[in-house]
Amino acid sequence: MTKDWKTRTKLVHEGTRRSQYGEMAEAIFLTQGFVYPDAESAEARFIKAGEDEFIYARYGNPTTRMFEERIAALEGTEDAFATASGMAAVSGALTSMLRAGDHVVSSRALFGSCLYILEEVLTRYGVKVTFVDGADLDQWRAAVVPGTKAVFFESMSNPTLELIDITAVSEIAHAAGALVICDNVFATPVFSRAVEQGADVIVYSTTKHIDGQGRALGGVVCASREFIRKTLEPYMKHTGGSMSPFTAWMHLNGMATLDLRCRAMADAAKEIASALEGHEKLSRVIYPGLPSHRQHALAMAQMGSGGTLLAFDLKGGKEAAFRFMNALEIVKISNNLGDAKSIATHPATTTHQRLPQDQKDALGITPGLIRLSVGLEDAGDLTADLMQALSVA
Ligand SMILES: *Cc1c(COP(=O)(O)O)cnc(C)c1O
Repeated sequence: MTKDWKTRTKLVHEGTRRSQYGEMAEAIFLTQGFVYPDAESAEARFIKAGEDEFIYARYGNPTTRMFEERIAALEGTEDAFATASGMAAVSGALTSMLRAGDHVVSSRALFGSCLYILEEVLTRYGVKVTFVDGADLDQWRAAVVPGTKAVFFESMSNPTLELIDITAVSEIAHAAGALVICDNVFATPVFSRAVEQGADVIVYSTTKHIDGQGRALGGVVCASREFIRKTLEPYMKHTGGSMSPFTAWMHLNGMATLDLRCRAMADAAKEIASALEGHEKLSRVIYPGLPSHRQHALAMAQMGSGGTLLAFDLKGGKEAAFRFMNALEIVKISNNLGDAKSIATHPATTTHQRLPQDQKDALGITPGLIRLSVGLEDAGDLTADLMQALSVA
């Protein structure tokens, strides 16, 4: 399709396939298999399936294919492969390209399940993994050596919203011949410019902003056609982590509003962060869109936005944080993010509960820290809810 379409046009139309009925809305092909007109066609399709030919939904499905083409066009990669969850995308991207003896360098501040893949799974199969402090470019320079196969990082870390400089890390990686794999969930595909900044493989948990309404679990890997079809697809189709056509169909519907949603959430996040900054009960407010954020300039250069999440630290520690959460009336207590509903999370006792204390300290996960995923409610209502909850904290 037309490649010079702008984001919003792509989000509505890119990748749409219409059946002979000419349906307006994207059709859901809730089928696992496909019927061949004759035995010769079946044989031919197994030798090489054409553009509009499918074999089995684990390999590909017309509805899933629409979603893959739409997100690839949005991200600016040649191709994409949709997976059953964000973790199927992360583990697939890494495992499909690595073998025993390979070396990977990863930032240490990772989503718990990503850390498990790198620390437990890959090492079990003889892959060597070196962890670095992702914001410290000298550590990347020291750890990436000629022959390093891949670098992995989350472009904005959870929950303390620290950015990794994609351009700088990609330069270091490419000089050594390593592939750059970027988990870009917190940046969202709307604010992502990861391809032009040098990332080779971009991974999303579509469970987050892309679904955006807390209904579906999904993931996607965006990369060159070579990586997707030669490296990832054979691995995914034989190990079984493909996306359900039903999920792809929900994502296709949701994507029409993805740009509007992410921008509205980011605008509200900035408004809320500004209102909270300097509050007497808070020791710090972390939002990359505020000039006070240590990496504000990098956030603006990399994403053109501070994103849809913020974090803040209550001076009264865990007790104050719990009183605050329990007093919230609009904001929900949960651990998802990127949802239409605003969500407060207490990382120290939930998502990051199992981290040893020294690692919590190193990552800045203090007892008073709250992560807020800003939703689509009125920003004034949200600010008022947070303020009244702070007053009783
Ligand atoms: C949620 C998340 C994942 C995992 O995605 P699932 O869809 O829950 O499997 C991976 N990385 C990051 C940064 C996430 O936020």
